[in-house]
Amino acid sequence: MPEDESLVLNIHLGNDVRSITKGRFLHDIWTGFFDSVCLICSADFDPPQQPPIRTLSLSFAQDDPENPSTTFLRIYNRHLHCIIEQNIQYVLLSHAWHQPVSLAHLSKLSNNEAKHLVYQVPIQSLMAAMDKFGLDTEIWRIRSSCT
Ligand SMILES: [Zn+2]
Repeated sequence: MPEDESLVLNIHLGNDVRSITKGRFLHDIWTGFFDSVCLICSADFDPPQQPPIRTLSLSFAQDDPENPSTTFLRIYNRHLHCIIEQNIQYVLLSHAWHQPVSLAHLSKLSNNEAKHLVYQVPIQSLMAAMDKFGLDTEIWRIRSSCT
């Protein structure tokens, strides 16, 4: 496993912290490792009628946004109606998957570029959104197909 893939990531999911390696991030997304009940009402989801709305943010230990080693990806799974009722603000980003990610998703076979992009692109999107909207910005990334 390349060194980059063995990097341990601490992903915050509600009040839980789930430690994974960067190389497993794509696999863990596919296998529901980041699924949870709604972080607001604690109820399950009922897709497709009521799918989870998954938003992302970055948190910084000791309020140090300049130090990447203290940066944590935070995942929120919530019902859309709970987001609306709680007036939670987020930035909606529509994006096309990069070709390697699209191929990996369609084939369910991972590849090194997809493993890298599936983590790096959301982080880069969050950094850009935070730069414009503030440190507490959440993003909701909507995928469009790219074949
Ligand atoms: Zn809810």
